[in-house]
Amino acid sequence: MVLSSYTGRFAPSPTGPLHLGSLFTALASYLDARAHQGQWLVRMEDLDPPREMAGAADNILRALEHYGLLWDGEVWFQSTRHTFYEEAVHYLLQEKIAFYCTCSRKDLQLLSADSYPGTCRGRHSPPQEPAAIRVQVNDRPIRFDDALQGPCEFNLQQEGGDFIIKRKDGLYAYHLAVVLDDAAQSITHIVRGIDLLDSTPRHCHLQQLLRLPTPHYAHLPVLVNEQGQKLSKQTFAAPIPLADPVPWLFECLRALGQQPPAELLQARRDELLQWAAQHWSLDRVPRQQAIAAVTLCTPGPAHVTSKQP
Ligand SMILES: [Zn+2]
Repeated sequence: MVLSSYTGRFAPSPTGPLHLGSLFTALASYLDARAHQGQWLVRMEDLDPPREMAGAADNILRALEHYGLLWDGEVWFQSTRHTFYEEAVHYLLQEKIAFYCTCSRKDLQLLSADSYPGTCRGRHSPPQEPAAIRVQVNDRPIRFDDALQGPCEFNLQQEGGDFIIKRKDGLYAYHLAVVLDDAAQSITHIVRGIDLLDSTPRHCHLQQLLRLPTPHYAHLPVLVNEQGQKLSKQTFAAPIPLADPVPWLFECLRALGQQPPAELLQARRDELLQWAAQHWSLDRVPRQQAIAAVTLCTPGPAHVTSKQP
């Protein structure tokens, strides 16, 4: 095994098949890892069974394989990690950094505040009624240096306030699970969509409370549809076809600012990926927040080759 100080990951939710937006993110994360001779892991964020789609996890993994984005090691499933999440919740409650919150959505709407007002702070023992568990935040800036977006600063008290780590229905919150799993998998570099930029200070906050290392972050532009909405299951993004992967990878590389030479459209999948890893430069990724998918989601017939990967 090659020893490298770089471990990256792609962490999709199995709520639907892989679409162009997720391929774009997966490719960038994969190339950044490979360019650093790093490990690249895949983790299924299956925390929310009602939102998940049967067979989607398998579907996503087959699509990644089809596109040549082969991961290292075993795929982790968050659904198997509840014991670890519960331990952290217990620790934060015990330390009185987390508290039980019985506020309803309606209660909070009535307050019309942007941030949770701290109503239930101090509730450290479980109430009779169902309660969410929130972690307390501070009125201090949290700073991190994003490899693409530059220096970022958030004040969580003013931007959302104490946030939920375990929901009233018993499901663990994304923020908690992602921080624990990134640490457990020794993730050093996270390349993901800019839609998660404002989650990052919450992750940094939890890392500090749980004494976990903070990885390096790079937040990519997201692909948007004609209405300017992020491609996602909610916006009915089409599944990425399991056809010739080369034109699709090529278009994603172009959108990532990597300028692949046109002759690579005739290359085989693995040659294209090898070129891309060798020439990968995060500095060339556009700094904008959104890229219109229409400009790249229809590789023309001239691009399609009959070569097999
Ligand atoms: Zn409350």
